[in-house]
Amino acid sequence: MQGLAIILSGPSGVGKSTIVRQAGTQLANWCFSVSCTTRAPRPGEVDGQDYHFYTKERFEQEIAASSFLEWAEVHGNYYGTLRLPVQETIQSGGLMILDIDVQGARQIRNAIAGTAIEPSFVTVFVAPPSMTELERRLRGRGTETEESIQKRLKNARTELTALDEYQFCVVNDKLEQAASDFLAIVQAARCRTPLQKANLPLFD
Ligand code: ADP
Ligand code: 5GP
Repeated sequence: MQGLAIILSGPSGVGKSTIVRQAGTQLANWCFSVSCTTRAPRPGEVDGQDYHFYTKERFEQEIAASSFLEWAEVHGNYYGTLRLPVQETIQSGGLMILDIDVQGARQIRNAIAGTAIEPSFVTVFVAPPSMTELERRLRGRGTETEESIQKRLKNARTELTALDEYQFCVVNDKLEQAASDFLAIVQAARCRTPLQKANLPLFD
């Protein structure tokens, strides 16, 4: 059974984690991809659960060892997705949700193009209802310094120009609606012809 990987991108603070938390209560056999990062943990973040928090040296060793399916420098820190858990989840028929930036999503799209696992990947961009609301959420979360907020807002404008590269777009205005849209996308993604074909014993 070939599973599904949903790549979620969107500006920091738009509500990606919140949507996944909400929608996750309605999903079975799913996991969140735990990325590696060199940024410092926020209060309450747990190593191995929210992120694998690596030193710069450790991260660069893993780059050299080709451990990452993708990696990128975002807001001045390294972020990357380990290859193995993604492969294992897809091969075991599970659902993995990956929160990665637009550079990482591009790398994955290029890496899987034309391969047997391409039908497993779906890309979703989460957009804010307005830039004012995005800023309000970033500030409201209370996790960033003023410098970090400014960096994230500047980056958000660049990321929004990549919207056309994504198969789906969820606007996170009302959380209930955004979570419901996300669940509809998961369901539709499972019914896409290439994935159904890969899992049906009709073409052997
Ligand atoms: P991301 O994972 O995209 O960086 P978060 O999920 O951490 O963003 O959300 C950022 C902040 O916005 C959090 O404080 C969260 O509670 C809030 N938030 C998320 N979705 C909504 C929404 N639909 N309406 C209002 N606030 C929201
Ligand atoms: P944060 O520091 O707010 O948790 O994440 C900042 C940004 O890093 C977000 O845009 C998020 O999508 C991105 N990000 C998180 N994990 C990864 C990853 O593994 N790879 C890439 N390329 N980006 C990531």
